[in-house]
Amino acid sequence: MFMVRANPFKLILVAVSCSFFSCQYSNANTPENVVAAERMEIIEKLTDTVKKTVRNNVQEILAKKEIPILCYHHIRDYLPSDQASAKPYIVPVNVFEQQMKALKDSGYQSIVIEDLMNYLEFNQPLPEKAVMITFDDTNLNQYTNGLPLLDKYGFKGVFFMMTVPIGKERFMSKAQIKALADAGHDVQLHTWDHKNVKKFEEKDWDIQITRAAKTLENITGKPVVHFAFPFGLWSPDVLPKLEKLGMKSAYQLADKRDSQYPLYSIRRIIVPGTLSGKTLVGQMKKSF
Ligand SMILES: [Zn+2]
Repeated sequence: MFMVRANPFKLILVAVSCSFFSCQYSNANTPENVVAAERMEIIEKLTDTVKKTVRNNVQEILAKKEIPILCYHHIRDYLPSDQASAKPYIVPVNVFEQQMKALKDSGYQSIVIEDLMNYLEFNQPLPEKAVMITFDDTNLNQYTNGLPLLDKYGFKGVFFMMTVPIGKERFMSKAQIKALADAGHDVQLHTWDHKNVKKFEEKDWDIQITRAAKTLENITGKPVVHFAFPFGLWSPDVLPKLEKLGMKSAYQLADKRDSQYPLYSIRRIIVPGTLSGKTLVGQMKKSF
């Protein structure tokens, strides 16, 4: 006789599919149908547990399809004083709206970092067209101009905050940062004063990472364990250090991801104000 070692998980799946198919020929709310639905629920919970316990290794993470991640700085109209070199970091309000509308019309759904981590580490599903919309530097215009448009199109943002200017002119206040977190936007870390991590001295790890993260946690009441590199600058030797200090992921710009620490060198693209909504969608497909 042909012997197979019984896998209880597979057996339940077989049982459920059998009752599922037999139900196709009976009708709607028969007792079998109800039992099948209940069992499907149990299976789904089981599957979740299985997925949650198997963490992908580095190669598996690198092999997963990258999700487009956008990086914004200022959402405001150009000023006469804006230098040409600053323009890539400024997106006029009407252009930002066109970009958000194009994402929405193309079927994109926004995700926050926990979704991305669950996808990369545990193969949890994401929406078919997922995008992460990130904002750096604590700029007030992200809140006053950007947030109403995120709301309008049903998107959640990820805000990487530098903590030293909180409450100062042209930067977000504690109350605004708390409001973002309360509304389901992600509030994460972008150092204390925007120091390049490649120039960190020993004491900077505490000032720029540990204490700055604590400052944000005190404001939002939520964990701050994800980090965006100021200027997008990083080097492989800082990645283990970030991990040791409790960071779970880190975000750069266009460099190749680190072969040992892919979760600490996640790629983003800067979206300039010169990009129409349609071009942005094309750019995302090309870059990720
Ligand atoms: Zn920055």
